[in-house]
Amino acid sequence: MSLLDQNIPELEETLAALGEPKFRAKQLYAWLAAGAAFEEMTNLPKSLREKLRDAQQEGYVEPIEVLKAEDGTRKYLFRLADGNTVESVLMRKNYGNTLCLSTQVGCRMGCAFCASCKNGLIRNLTPGEMLAQFIFANRELGGGRSIKNIVLMGMGEPFDNYDHVAAFLRRVNDANGLGVSWRDISLSTCGLVPQILRFAQENMPVHLCLSLHAPTDEKRRKIMPAAKKWKLEEIISALKCYFEKTGRRIIIEYAIIPGFNDGQEDASALRALLAGLNCHINLIPLNKVPECSFAPPTKHQVYAFANMLKRQGLSATVRHSAGQEILGACGQLRNRTLENS
Ligand code: SAH
Repeated sequence: MSLLDQNIPELEETLAALGEPKFRAKQLYAWLAAGAAFEEMTNLPKSLREKLRDAQQEGYVEPIEVLKAEDGTRKYLFRLADGNTVESVLMRKNYGNTLCLSTQVGCRMGCAFCASCKNGLIRNLTPGEMLAQFIFANRELGGGRSIKNIVLMGMGEPFDNYDHVAAFLRRVNDANGLGVSWRDISLSTCGLVPQILRFAQENMPVHLCLSLHAPTDEKRRKIMPAAKKWKLEEIISALKCYFEKTGRRIIIEYAIIPGFNDGQEDASALRALLAGLNCHINLIPLNKVPECSFAPPTKHQVYAFANMLKRQGLSATVRHSAGQEILGACGQLRNRTLENS
């Protein structure tokens, strides 16, 4: 286990095994959160730094590609200790920097429009590997708390890696480390009902986002295999439970696929489906990925659908797509790199 995969009590044990006092664990933890190398950890005795260097891995990720877009978006391709790669995207918003993290290498949800699913699931990320993505990007921006928001919307289905994601969230929120508040974290799921219900009980009131993308089970099943397992009725009722427990308004993500889910009948079906759920709809213009045949919408199509939703009395806004010229959609950079290697 790398050092970043350990919480403070675990670090205390690791340090005890090296003959070191407990209080060093908090110091080490703070250095790890800052992304420091062993030699930079100046309040640790030199002898301890040497012991750590010989016996332990920090658990940081290694950037193998950093793409920078004109709007300030940065896309990172990171190498993990076992050679697998994952992506993170940094977005510069007027309300603060936001980092979109991956939770798995690949994904097994199989959504038809998503580049992350192409080769299925390779493996789950550990909590330390999720932290390491944050720590790298934060340090690159100058350290301290340069990144305000975290969104779990990179590669992977967070609820298909539930225990590690929950451990990561506790760690990233921990005041001894990074101290990111719950309200600055968003978690996106394709709708795994048992996990939504379990998460509602966790006392980790992050913003929960549902990837809806179609207003009926029949349509949804055509593009999202997870919809074969969980019906919208069950999903919406689980989301209502999440709202009741946390008081957080649910975010509905809806990628506009022209001619498939952007008609008047879709807008009406959405109103019926979402009645009674405290939610806001984020409309995402579908990103063209080479892996799938759907065409992206024109601006006109996007705003036409947004207006249909407004006429239905739904709260909806269009999400600006960041960093398109640098393969902003999840999984795209990794796929290109896999193809070229
Ligand atoms: N597995 C999680 C989170 C990962 S993806 C989930 O399904 O929510 C983050 C968001 O990007 C999801 O809403 C996903 O459906 C969406 N997405 C994936 N590929 C896309 C594409 N090509 N264009 C637009 N949105 C896409």
